[in-house]
Formats: sequence, structure tokens, C-alpha cells
Amino acid sequence: MISPIRLPERLTDGVIVLDGHKLADAEAHWEGEDAEMMRRFDAIRKATVEEIRGAIQRWMDGRANGGPMFAYAMRVNGVLAGGSEVRWLDAPHGALNISYWSYPAFRGQGLVGRAVTLMLNEAATLPGARQIEAHVDADNSASRRVAERAGFVETGTVVDDVWTGETVTRVRYVKPLVHGVALDSQTRCAHWHSTLDIIAIKMKCCGAYYACKDCHDALAGHDAAVWPRAEFGETAVLCGACGVELSVRQYLDCGNACPACGAAFNPGCRNHYHFYFEA
Ligand SMILES: [Zn+2]
Ligand SMILES: [Zn+2]
Ligand SMILES: [Zn+2]
Repeated sequence: MISPIRLPERLTDGVIVLDGHKLADAEAHWEGEDAEMMRRFDAIRKATVEEIRGAIQRWMDGRANGGPMFAYAMRVNGVLAGGSEVRWLDAPHGALNISYWSYPAFRGQGLVGRAVTLMLNEAATLPGARQIEAHVDADNSASRRVAERAGFVETGTVVDDVWTGETVTRVRYVKPLVHGVALDSQTRCAHWHSTLDIIAIKMKCCGAYYACKDCHDALAGHDAAVWPRAEFGETAVLCGACGVELSVRQYLDCGNACPACGAAFNPGCRNHYHFYFEA
């Protein structure tokens, strides 16, 4: 584990509330667990209420211990509607995994998408987190839509070990995580927040995206390093408007506009290149 997974006790966007599970949630989870959920979580039969209490206890322990997972119960008007969980992946280094679910009566309302949005903002605050992945069954179109709407990019497939001892091949969705102070949804930060300040830079020192060098200094706990010219082919710049990742060379040659979406970048960044890229 890279760092303990500690997220806020409670998150809300005014429609859903994410908070901790209680043992008393077991009955509602049991009632909500239909064949679809069982299939997606590799269950070979419906769990008993007692087994679900065990799972909830592990979620509660995970919160208390900072891992191996951090799970949220998703509630609408106080009623258990679903949930979501993050944990570190074994590989690649610095990658988190997110999974999410909702019970039948709460599907098709965009609720899970709201949960994912709230959690992505928080996941980017975890020290050492470089990216977050969602591994989704190819035929699970609802779940794939949630990932795509949240800005995850389909990146091949992944073979996951599941608890039954078997392996499953799933679609791999990846989203880089951007760290920073007072970030907005397009990676503007406390230091740079004009309409044009929408790029984030993967730092050479730690391989994590930061909104700017000052954000890195404030949060990373180590000195920044610059990309040497020999590595300008590496992917290291993220467009906060569309999420595309550019190599250092593509960024330096882009004429201050995103090659993918056309969004304008701040030409004044030129004066700070030496903080990030070998001059
Ligand atoms: Zn660093
Ligand atoms: Zn900053
Ligand atoms: Zn773009």
C-alpha cells in the first residue's frame, strides 16, 4: 500500500450522500442485491444477510484502518441506494481502482455517476495517487457509460483475479489524477486560475500530475525535478478541458491550443517552462 486511504467521512452534492456503512445496512443491501449485482461481483449465489454483515464489517474496518479499501454507502433521502469503493491496485504503481454499484430501484438516474464524481475529487488528494482505474465487464454498458462520462479513457483490457480464485478479463478504464490546491474541474488551482490556466503537468520527480509547481511544492513533500530533453517524448501534459494527454514535445509545439479540443492554453506559461522542462 502506497499510503493509507483516508477520505472524508461524508460527501454530498445535495442529491446523494456518501457516508460510512452501518451493520444495520445489511438488510437493505441484501434486498437490493439482484442477479445483475451478483454477476458483476462474481458471486456464485446470493449472499446471506450474515455474510453481508461480514462484508460491511470489513468496509467499516477499512475506514478505520486506512485500507485495504475505503467504501462509501450511497444514500438518497436517507435510503441506501448503492455504494462505491476505492483501493490501491498492485500495479501499476500509484494506481487506484474504483468500483461502484446501485440497487435496482435506483438505476438509470445518474446517481452512481454523482458518486464517482465526488470520489474522483477526493481520490486526487491521496498522496502518491497517479491514476484511477475502473475495470468493467465488456457487456456492462451502464457501468461503462458511468466511466466514460466521468472522463475515464478506455485503455485495452485487464485480467483481474477474483475472489473465487478465477480470473476475468475486463475493459480497463483509466483516468489520470491531478493534485493541487483548490482545484477546479479543469485543473485551475489556487496559484493559476485564469480561464487559460487549464493544463496540468506530470512531474518528472514523482510521475504524478500537479496543477502547477507551487501545488507540487505545497503537497508533494519532495523537490521537483525537470524533464530532460531526451525525455520530451514522454506523456506529461494534461488538457484540463478535454483530458487528453500530450507529450512534452507536443505541448511545446502546440501553439498554446489543445491539439485535441482546441482550448486555449496560457501563453504566459512559457516563462515557467524551466520549472518543468530542461531549457
Ligand atoms: Zn514530485
Ligand atoms: Zn498551483
Ligand atoms: Zn483539450
